[in-house]
Amino acid sequence: IEKFKKGLSKTKEKLSEALSDLFEVERVVDLKTLEEIEENLILSDLGVETTLALIEPFKDRVINGETLTTKELKKFLKSQMLSFLKEAETPFPPQGHPSVLFFLGVNGVGKTTTIAKIGKKLKENGFSVVLVAADTFRAAAIDQLKTWGERISAPVIALQEGSDPAAVIYQGIEYAKKNNIDVVLVDTAGRLHTKYNLIEELKKMVRVMHKLVPPEACENILVLDATTGQNALSQAKHFTEAVPVHSVIITKMDGTAKGGIAIALSYQFNLPIRFIGLGEKAEDLVPFNKESFVDAILP
Ligand code: GDP
Repeated sequence: IEKFKKGLSKTKEKLSEALSDLFEVERVVDLKTLEEIEENLILSDLGVETTLALIEPFKDRVINGETLTTKELKKFLKSQMLSFLKEAETPFPPQGHPSVLFFLGVNGVGKTTTIAKIGKKLKENGFSVVLVAADTFRAAAIDQLKTWGERISAPVIALQEGSDPAAVIYQGIEYAKKNNIDVVLVDTAGRLHTKYNLIEELKKMVRVMHKLVPPEACENILVLDATTGQNALSQAKHFTEAVPVHSVIITKMDGTAKGGIAIALSYQFNLPIRFIGLGEKAEDLVPFNKESFVDAILP
């Protein structure tokens, strides 16, 4: 809980600015106030769609002549946020021999460091892991994963730059089976904005993965960067259209006031949040808990 509070302090500051004069003194809520709040929540990166869905039921009650106070509004906002947010509830890692964590996300969101952090945590919890360098488009991505593999003492399966990523996954999973490894962590390419067809590539990788491991033993995890705000929503749209996405990890929550994006992501895409990144260290990647999150961001 302390970690959530510390990591999310910037988001809280922003929301406090947006809401605090409301909550400082208890008074009756009028329509003008509600419209101001709407505007502020939209600016706090909840976006239009989510903000309206969040506040509209309360607004309707005011329009219908009910007398409601700021205290009631605060309680309402909190319960709405809790109902919009989704925690990932399936076992982590998924059960399987091996199980596969298939990481998706555009370059720079923190995908590789997140894979390393999770690999490290899993090892500390007694799981054996192998890292798979399926971003074969950039030699630097392969090297980076190899470096992380050395640091956390995990084997890394990589082929040459330019190889078929599906072939790398195939080899990675075969390696895990032969060597009795529990969890396969797959790094994928993230170049959404080139002509190259990433979507087809991802689909093929998923097909190959499911030939070797049953779907219930695989978790496709989308990594998003909180600092990109509304951009994270359009990334979520692209990736969920390409392949099934089972959960998301939102990184860099610590450096930004845009933490509200978690609510929009959960609400608009029905995506459960697995972890959030609250700093650079492995222990800063924390399992998502919606109560702690809402307590940390509301004034
Ligand atoms: P990739 O291109 O998606 O693989 O991105 P990287 O894994 O190379 O990460 C990019 C940068 O983001 C690195 O400097 C990471 O240390 C940093 N980073 C990742 N997660 C977090 C986080 O939760 N908080 C902060 N402050 N930095 C992070």
